[in-house]
Amino acid sequence: EISKLKNPSLFCQNAFVNGEWVKSKTKQEFSVLDPATNQEIGKVPEMNAEDIKIAIKAAKEAFEDWASLTAKNRHNFLKTLNSFILENKYDLATILTQENGKPINEALEEIKYGAGFIEWFAEEARRTYGDVIPSPMKSNRILVQKQPIGVVGIITPWNFPNAMITRKIGAALAAGCTVVIKPAAATPFSALAIAELASKAGFPKGVINVVTSEQNVKEVGLELTTNPDVKKISFTGSTPVGKMLMQQSSSTLKKISLELGGNAPFIVFDDAEVEAASKFRSSGQTCVCANRIYVQSSIYAEFATRLSEKVSKFKIGNGFDQQTTHGPLIDEKAIKKVTRHVEDAVAKGAEILVGGVQRNGNFFEPTVLTGMTSEMGITREETFGPVAALYKFESEDEVIKLANDSNVGLAGYLYSRDVGRCWKVAEALELGIVGVNTGVISCAEAPFGGVKESGIGREGTKYLIIYYFNVRH
Ligand code: ADP
Repeated sequence: EISKLKNPSLFCQNAFVNGEWVKSKTKQEFSVLDPATNQEIGKVPEMNAEDIKIAIKAAKEAFEDWASLTAKNRHNFLKTLNSFILENKYDLATILTQENGKPINEALEEIKYGAGFIEWFAEEARRTYGDVIPSPMKSNRILVQKQPIGVVGIITPWNFPNAMITRKIGAALAAGCTVVIKPAAATPFSALAIAELASKAGFPKGVINVVTSEQNVKEVGLELTTNPDVKKISFTGSTPVGKMLMQQSSSTLKKISLELGGNAPFIVFDDAEVEAASKFRSSGQTCVCANRIYVQSSIYAEFATRLSEKVSKFKIGNGFDQQTTHGPLIDEKAIKKVTRHVEDAVAKGAEILVGGVQRNGNFFEPTVLTGMTSEMGITREETFGPVAALYKFESEDEVIKLANDSNVGLAGYLYSRDVGRCWKVAEALELGIVGVNTGVISCAEAPFGGVKESGIGREGTKYLIIYYFNVRH
């Protein structure tokens, strides 16, 4: 637990602005709770628009020097940050589990996955090549140069409190941008710990700023999206908030990257390795993402039984307990949403094979539902809870239609041993990411992002860093 950190300086209860640990000018603070116990972990500043203006100003003042460093200089800073993150991974995982609730081993995986983005973009920093283009005009030469966009406002969610930040700042800092990060109110400590490590790694003041707010989030968001000194907004979170931020950003025509909600289909054909397919479910937080599980009718009953056996062995509990396979949901609101989804499905004819009920506090039993139909709420809305909802289908064409019948399209999965079928279905799915016979789809090397209302832009890969540059010739 946090009281036993090897490096206690990583637990910071102030915001980080212009290289200093600061409170809000208003002196207000808010409490952060451990979702497993609802006990207070600590307090951070409740900042308002005035506080944010100061952070933006610091980032703006730091920009010129940061942008004019050599790419190799920025590479070195990021490499150092990467090694500091890895050296402190147990402490960072501890902070993450304490505020987010996920099992400690999953938290550790997130820290390593998150550090992977810093490492990757440290390397990419040196490969941000320009171009020379043959001109149609005899006397001209066309030189293309990439220039960092400027100050980036970064807003991140609580479900990956570390990695959602590292994958944005990795690219932004590598490109030569400076950042103002607003982490989710439920999980500010992971963000502040990154700031502490960056400070130790010698990043110049103002390059990385972390601001915190809970009640004032609307005015803070408004300041970030309308302040003319912020040139880009990078957001991961819900679709409604993403749309609002996009609208606000239009007043100054900021560049935007949005990673929004998905409603992932998970398709299992009758020729799939059912064993492999169902195993995916036990990989913790990821299973939260497969929202609609389509199983071909001839194996539907067997799949449901086997999955239920597996799910009934899951152990929910405190993330620090080594036996725990699934931690708590983030808060009461999340429990209400999952409960509403399960009740709605049952009222419309679904059957609960396992789970289906809330346990004490923020815990919800891992649940398997069968007999799902398109009319049920889960079909349209991301559940964000430990619910496996099983839909029956007959043919390839039918399941492609069902899977694509959604206004969002982030990730999806399909399981089959028929190569032709894999290609046909994978290419027909309206998604940004398709896992074929795998549930592991995200790493620094691969582009992450959605189509339809799941977002704008991609993260990771050489494709992300381009979003932090202006290209000029
Ligand atoms: P969820 O909490 O379901 O993950 P949200 O979109 O509500 O999704 O939250 C994602 C991030 O957006 C969090 O950091 C949250 O504080 C922030 N946020 C929520 N509402 C606003 C807003 N009006 N302006 C700016 N940021 C917001």
